[in-house]
Amino acid sequence: MTCREIEGFLEAYADGEFEGPEQAEIESHLAGCDDCRDGVEAHKAFKRCLRGAASGCSGSNHSAPDRLRASIAGALDQQVKQRQRARLKPVLAWGVLTAAAAAGTVLWIRAGLVRERASSYVSAAIANHQRALPLDVQDEQLAKIQSFFQGKVDFPPSRILNLRNAGLVGGRISSLSNHQAAYVVWQKGGQRRISLFVFDAPELTVPRNRRVKDRDLLIANQHGYNAVLWKDQGIAYSLVSDLDEQDIIDLVAASSH
Ligand SMILES: [Zn+2]
Repeated sequence: MTCREIEGFLEAYADGEFEGPEQAEIESHLAGCDDCRDGVEAHKAFKRCLRGAASGCSGSNHSAPDRLRASIAGALDQQVKQRQRARLKPVLAWGVLTAAAAAGTVLWIRAGLVRERASSYVSAAIANHQRALPLDVQDEQLAKIQSFFQGKVDFPPSRILNLRNAGLVGGRISSLSNHQAAYVVWQKGGQRRISLFVFDAPELTVPRNRRVKDRDLLIANQHGYNAVLWKDQGIAYSLVSDLDEQDIIDLVAASSH
């Protein structure tokens, strides 16, 4: 909050009319703002002065008659009551702040849904990797694998990546969360199987937790497998293996069309 925004609330604050988050909001501003703190003190001193009705105010020892004191006190109480009735305006202002906080919550929830959707693809990729279903085609040449997928997937098979530092084993038509996918199996260091899933998922946003060679990667570990999910020009890729996380990241970094 700025001094301008808080200005109109200082008097009510000095009278102790705020509580909970509103009070905390004002106090957090006051903690760092001498001017507004002085403003609150001035209001409090003024009220003390009036309620004391000249006794102990500005060093004056002239005491007002009881009747005057009572009428000033009554007027002050009336003022507080009026302001309480008029709280609609301040409440509306605070309502705007609350709405902003709610918008923040919506963004936070939306970010949560994005993460959830992305991680559902990762889970599906890991489940498919674990199943190790038989391959439809076996070949060590990427061009042969790509031509196998021609007409069988809804994206150009040329988008299937070459994992340069691994040996190609073969491919299979697969699906990930209702998306048709090209499933390509690679091998590294003898028995270490690597699954690459390539699919078209326009609605998928990948929340990155690592950036490697201009690629925003979501790296996850589930059931002892490391998985990476990323998107490149609209096409989504997921790599799953029991290789170390760094080995998988290296494979992604070295991959090319
Ligand atoms: Zn201030």
